Amino acid sequence: MTDLELWKKVILSLQDKIKRSDMLVWFNSTNLDSLVDHKATIVVPSVFTQEWFKQKYKKILFDAFKECGQELVDMEFEVDSNLLHENSNGVDVVHLLKQGDKKIRKVPNKLEVRVTTQGHSGQNGDTFTTKMLNPKYRLDNFVVGNDNRLAHAACQAVAKKPGLSYNPLFVYGNVGLGKTHLLQGTGNAILDFYSDSVVVYGTAEKFTNEIVESIQKSNVKTFRNRYRNADCLIIDDIQFLADKERTQEEFFHTFNELYHENKQIIISSDRPPKELKGIDDRLVSRFEMGMIVDVSFPDYETCLAILHRKCQEMEMLIPTDVLEFIAYNVQNSIRELEGVLVQAIAQAQLEDSTPTINSVSKILNKLGKINLVTSPEKFMESGRKPMTSCDEVIDLVSDYYKLTKYDLIGERRSREIMIPRQVCIYLLRKEFNFSFERIGTEFGGRNHTTAMHAFNKIVRDIKKDQKLVRDINAIKKEIGL
Ligand code: ADP
Ligand code: MG
Repeated sequence: MTDLELWKKVILSLQDKIKRSDMLVWFNSTNLDSLVDHKATIVVPSVFTQEWFKQKYKKILFDAFKECGQELVDMEFEVDSNLLHENSNGVDVVHLLKQGDKKIRKVPNKLEVRVTTQGHSGQNGDTFTTKMLNPKYRLDNFVVGNDNRLAHAACQAVAKKPGLSYNPLFVYGNVGLGKTHLLQGTGNAILDFYSDSVVVYGTAEKFTNEIVESIQKSNVKTFRNRYRNADCLIIDDIQFLADKERTQEEFFHTFNELYHENKQIIISSDRPPKELKGIDDRLVSRFEMGMIVDVSFPDYETCLAILHRKCQEMEMLIPTDVLEFIAYNVQNSIRELEGVLVQAIAQAQLEDSTPTINSVSKILNKLGKINLVTSPEKFMESGRKPMTSCDEVIDLVSDYYKLTKYDLIGERRSREIMIPRQVCIYLLRKEFNFSFERIGTEFGGRNHTTAMHAFNKIVRDIKKDQKLVRDINAIKKEIGL
């Protein structure tokens, strides 16, 4: 039994001794680092958790190890903040508890594949489940707001008709904004609708490592079969393929083969296809053949809804004003939003209290995140509204160019109006990270591709137009950027 398997067994054996909500908060992203000479070293993601384990769980853990056949003489807890990262080797407790007392399967750290129990042609009816798509990522627990609506809708359409609606589906956006959630959620939904299909999910990094390994071991054919047998191939963070020519070549052929058989391909990236550097043009043009959607940081209300949803999932009750305070202050990634929430809960539990605005403000201060609201008092005064809305930016840009708001968002296409309109779209996207879909809606219900074109036009023009650069800088100054 590997250390990871033993650790999972230990956690499962604690189920009737520790409350489920406590298990979710404290045991998530932990692992058994080593077991040497009857001494266990357990790694945990934060100092809070470390303290908590030392104070509350040491004894219980000694007993649990014993129950699992390992009598220990010593136990140590070490902090490894990498455990909080996606794809870390910490245990996913939500998933583990869901599996309940089902047999724990060996988890190869290879490609993540789920083949359903129905068996599948090409697998000789074998039923095997290796590392599954993470079941916690679902399309129905993805909170939809204006800034990710299109991406979510596209994923739903793909899940209902894989290979037939949008192929490939290309989802892009900055880190921590929900791409992996959407991609894996789509994979899970496809398996819900079509239980005998084969969904292959992997990061581009994994794809690369596997091809390198298969070349070394001269079993490229096995590698190819694995990917090319997929009914749906999901490759996360494709930007990783930059400058890796051999891997790109392999991916190109995999892509073509699947595409021509109408198999669904879903890709994520940190930027749109055109902006990918070091990726072969023929691949970029393939990425552009289907549907391209972006995700960006959601508005305040959506952030709040996400926090409420995460509390529900963790079975925690947190005062709404505390959640509002978090939503107000964390402004760049949802992963960070969740991270602050989890820390707030962990700290409060350690102190046997509930998170408060003050305790959260201390956490935010430590993270250097308290850039908009300097004190909880100011937050209370501010009416808890986000500082910058689309409307405010639109008003400011129209004032700057001496136009009315309705000129700016309206239909007229004269040059005097088009440039300010494009500048405004550019700023909303570049500086405030609004999605193209949302910007399109704000600008008189235009299509998101119109907003994307306007943005790209300004990106091109600022390289050669000094006046434009001066205008944009002046507007940014007025916004306070
Ligand atoms: P990315 O792949 O873009 O870096 P992830 O998909 O890993 O981001 O998302 C980071 C975290 O934020 C995950 O825990 C994910 O569940 C959560 N998340 C992101 N967007 C949403 C959303 N709209 N609703 C619920 N959770 C979300
Ligand atoms: Mg990701």
